[in-house]
Amino acid sequence: MIIVIAGAIGAILGSFATVVAYRLPKGQSFMTGRSRCPSCDHLITAAENIPVVSYMLQRGRCRHCGANIPARYPLVELATGVLFALSAWRFGASIEAILFAALFWVLVVLTVIDLELRLLPNRIVYPAFIFGWAGLVLAAAASGEPSRLAAAALGALIFGGFFLLIALLVPAGLGGGDVKLAFVLGSFVGYLGAPGLVLVAMFLSFLFGALVGLAVMLATGGNRKMKVPFGPFLALGTVVSILAGQGILDAYLGRL
Ligand SMILES: [Zn+2]
Repeated sequence: MIIVIAGAIGAILGSFATVVAYRLPKGQSFMTGRSRCPSCDHLITAAENIPVVSYMLQRGRCRHCGANIPARYPLVELATGVLFALSAWRFGASIEAILFAALFWVLVVLTVIDLELRLLPNRIVYPAFIFGWAGLVLAAAASGEPSRLAAAALGALIFGGFFLLIALLVPAGLGGGDVKLAFVLGSFVGYLGAPGLVLVAMFLSFLFGALVGLAVMLATGGNRKMKVPFGPFLALGTVVSILAGQGILDAYLGRL
């Protein structure tokens, strides 16, 4: 039941994620002003704004002018809903479930922006670090495990420190946004289990990045100018590590 409710909340907030990802890089306010059709400027009504459902009922078209609505909208809503449901499944009814769902929401926004603009805005990454740590302190206090905060700090140092090192050694390799985001992600994953889960998250990020990078290189005939943003892989590696990292770690260590 709680998983279904979390999924529904996630789908609604996924709709808001699209708004933030679209407006924040342009410096527009996303707290005020209702959504409009980008083609005909028609105000989107509440009935047209039900996540995923409206898109399917309207067959992916604006009800007013018939313009195609990009599939990205329902996909982001669906992905956020699934991520919120998975957070509820992983953490149950707890502060952690809300905290990690919030992290997943931020990662959805960053993924959309990075794919579109090759950019991880400080205006999202800095607050994510500050509010993230406030949330981690709250969660550690509520669960009576203050030692987890030391693990979170260790995770930030490992994840962020490693990316900082790479950025210094290979300046063209990673963006500054990737390094800053790595400090945020290391804090969250470290809270759950440093250093093990942090290493899983880092390994998966590079694995996913390498696989997609290889696929893009093959598809474009080795055009090295085609740059793949790394933020989405950081996000994906971290999410998988948070949800299933312990199982992956146990399976790996069991085979040694
Ligand atoms: Zn329209």
